Amino acid sequence: MKKLVPTSIVGSLPKPAWLAPPEKLWSPWKLEGDQLLEGKQDALRISLQEQQLAGVDIISDGEQTRQHFVTTFIEHLSGVDFENRKVVKIRDRYDASVPIVVGEVARQKAVFVDDAKFLRKQTDKPIKWALPGPMTMVDTLYDDHYKSREKLAWEFAKALNEEARALQDAGVDIIQFDEPAFNVFFDEVNDWGMAVLEKAIEGLTCETAVHICYGYGIKANNDWKKTLGSEWRQYEEIFPKIQKSNIDIVSLECHNSNVPLNLIELVRGKKVMVGAIDVASNTIETPEEVANTLRKTLEFVAIENLYPSTNCGMAPLSREVARGKLSALSAGAEIIRKEFAI
Ligand SMILES: [Zn+2]
Repeated sequence: MKKLVPTSIVGSLPKPAWLAPPEKLWSPWKLEGDQLLEGKQDALRISLQEQQLAGVDIISDGEQTRQHFVTTFIEHLSGVDFENRKVVKIRDRYDASVPIVVGEVARQKAVFVDDAKFLRKQTDKPIKWALPGPMTMVDTLYDDHYKSREKLAWEFAKALNEEARALQDAGVDIIQFDEPAFNVFFDEVNDWGMAVLEKAIEGLTCETAVHICYGYGIKANNDWKKTLGSEWRQYEEIFPKIQKSNIDIVSLECHNSNVPLNLIELVRGKKVMVGAIDVASNTIETPEEVANTLRKTLEFVAIENLYPSTNCGMAPLSREVARGKLSALSAGAEIIRKEFAI
């Protein structure tokens, strides 16, 4: 029987210090060549083991084989110059050095398929794989070719769809698209963003998810959150469109955030990955805190559609804190299962 209230992480976990310097984004690899390949696989094994030890139900790769959740995928495409990078402002918020689109983009080779096959071999549990969403990709690069966010997003959707189909064939059970940009560019989401995301999931028979959050727990995001006031109603702008889409699962930020939980009502019928772990704080939640957050959402999501998760990726945290948060997530979900005697 399929386990109810299954836990999963949004995506990333901290990397071991021997693979990449910890607690920062775009952390450079410490190894090269075959050693790097082996190091990434070893890190993936550890990430799997930590999730299993903590009792996480749906396993992710912890994003151990990628430097960054968006740019690593972009760098594998043709038409991209990732050596001569440019600094752009991401989500109107912070500067980052990003790849440049210099010609037609296309997926000439698989990006994560070998990694997914490797993870598939290590566990019988369901596995979830995160890919960047097309709009967030467009927002995390410098475009010197298409000069149209929409046009470029459609091209990315084609490449993502090819990769997603290959990941599905490799045995991935859930493919998740990370679209933090959906929380910023509402008009574009409603205009073309959601349609483009539908293109990315076209023809998939595995489950699909979209993750929309307020970002990693880095200073630029935390400062931005302070400007959003006492009620964060961003989801209200985009959930109606998502509710009508073919996406199966919506991953959102709840714990320690000012998102009014009744907005979840707007995606009624979808499975909801409820963020019950704050990734912007080193304080480890108690199981009861996790259970409280989950319990509050049950007014708006049926228990069979409740998927406890983290608010976002845990890449910038220390490994010790991340381990504690994984265990809290599992223990909190278990409290809910017991309450409902399931
Ligand atoms: Zn996120």
